[in-house]
Amino acid sequence: MSEPLPIPETPDGRTDCTEFALRAYEYIDQEMTVEDCDRVRRHLDECAECFGEYERDVVLKALIRRSCACEEAPVALRLQIMTRITLAYGSTSDERGRGRR
Ligand SMILES: [Zn+2]
Repeated sequence: MSEPLPIPETPDGRTDCTEFALRAYEYIDQEMTVEDCDRVRRHLDECAECFGEYERDVVLKALIRRSCACEEAPVALRLQIMTRITLAYGSTSDERGRGRR
C-alpha cells in the first residue's frame, strides 16, 4: 500500500478547508500519518465550520457501524426479538379490536 499524500498547507501554515473536507474520513478512520493528524487537529481547533462537519461525519460513521453490527447479530437472536415485537404489537391490536366489539 502506498503512503498517503501529505496534506498541503497554505503559505501561512494552515490547512485549507477543502483539504480538510477531502481528508476528513481518513482522519476519522485514523488512516493518516501523525503529521497530517496534527494538521487536521489544528484546523479543527481553529475552524468551527469544519469541526461541525467533522462531528456530523463521526456520528454518521458511528451509526453505520452500529447498523452493520446489528446485521451480524445471530439470526436466532434476531428472530427471537422480531417474534417478541410481533407478539407485543399483535396482542395490543387484538385487545383493542376486542374492546371495541
Ligand atoms: Zn475549515
